[in-house]
Amino acid sequence: MVKGIPDGIKRTHILEAITQIAAGKQHNFAKSTGFDLLHDGKRYPPKAVVGVAAELLTGQEHDPYDFTGGLKSKCFKVLESNGFEIVPKEGASLESELPDEVNPSSRKDWSEDELRGAVNAYIKMRELEARGESFTKKDIYNSLAREFGRSVKAFEYRMQNISHVYSLQGRRWISGLRPAKNVGPRNLRIIEQLIADAEGQQLPESVVFEAAVQRKLDTPDMDEPLGLESPERTTQEVTSFKRDPKVVAWVLREANGLCECCDNPSPFTKEDGTPYLEVHHVQRLCDGGPDTTSNAAALCPNCHREMHYGKRKQELATKLTSKIARLK
Ligand SMILES: [Zn+2]
Ligand SMILES: [Zn+2]
Repeated sequence: MVKGIPDGIKRTHILEAITQIAAGKQHNFAKSTGFDLLHDGKRYPPKAVVGVAAELLTGQEHDPYDFTGGLKSKCFKVLESNGFEIVPKEGASLESELPDEVNPSSRKDWSEDELRGAVNAYIKMRELEARGESFTKKDIYNSLAREFGRSVKAFEYRMQNISHVYSLQGRRWISGLRPAKNVGPRNLRIIEQLIADAEGQQLPESVVFEAAVQRKLDTPDMDEPLGLESPERTTQEVTSFKRDPKVVAWVLREANGLCECCDNPSPFTKEDGTPYLEVHHVQRLCDGGPDTTSNAAALCPNCHREMHYGKRKQELATKLTSKIARLK
C-alpha cells in the first residue's frame, strides 16, 4: 500500500536533494528528531533527503508514511551506502517519557518486545472485558512499566494507539481506552502484525493506508492532489493497487458527508465522528483507470455495492459521471 524506498537512488540524487532542500524546497517531511545527515558541515533531516531523492529518481512525490527512518532502516542504509554520514542530533535525549509519536523531541523507538508486551496485555484485557471479568488497567501498566523501563503514562497512551488499530479494522476496542491516532506507520504496522500473530489470524487488509487517509483528512489545508496517473501494481494474495490516500481524503471532503450518487446523507457516523462513505473508482484500476480525483467518487455503501454488482450499474455510472463535474 505504501511506496517504500525505490531501488536505484544514487549519490547524485542525494546531492541534488540536499541542494534543493537547502534552497528551501517544499516537502512533506517533518524536522529530524533523533539523527541528522551531515554534509559539508551542515545538518539535514535524513528522511526528507531520501524522500526528495526518491522523488527525483521516480518522479513521484514521497510522503513520510511511505517509509521509515531510524537506525537499521533502508532510509539510513541508502544514505550510508552512498557515502554520507549520519550523526545523532545534538542534545537528543535517548530517554522518552511519552511514546515516540507524542514526544518526538526525545524519541526512542519502541522495540518490538515492548510493543509485543503492550499488545499482549491489551488482548488479555480485551478478552477479560468481553467475559465481563474485572481488572485494573493501572496495575497492568505498572507491571509493563517496570518490565520495560518506560513510564506508566507511555504505556497507557500506547494502549490507546492499539485501540486505534482495532478501530481501523472496524472492531471493538477496550472501553475507556479511546483510540489515539498519532501512531507512526512503523509502529502501526508492527502492532497490526502482533495482533494478527497473537490471534493466530492471517493479516487483514492493512490499516496503514486507512490511517494515512485519516491523517490527510486531518490536514486543514490540502491542495487537490495530482494523484497517480498509472498507479503501480503490487502483488499480495490478490493484485491490488497502491492507491493515493490524498485522493481518497480529498474526494471524501468534497462529498461533505453526502453520497455523490443518490445525494443522501452517509448512513452512519464512524467512531471518530466522520461520516461513513466509500470511495469508488468509476473506471476500475484493474481496467487501467487512474487513481485521481477525476476518476473517484464518494458513495454510500448501497450505491457503491450497486455500482459494482447491481443490474443497473451501467445506468448508475452514467448518471454519476454526468452529475459530478470533476468526473471524466
Ligand atoms: Zn448513495
Ligand atoms: Zn467501487
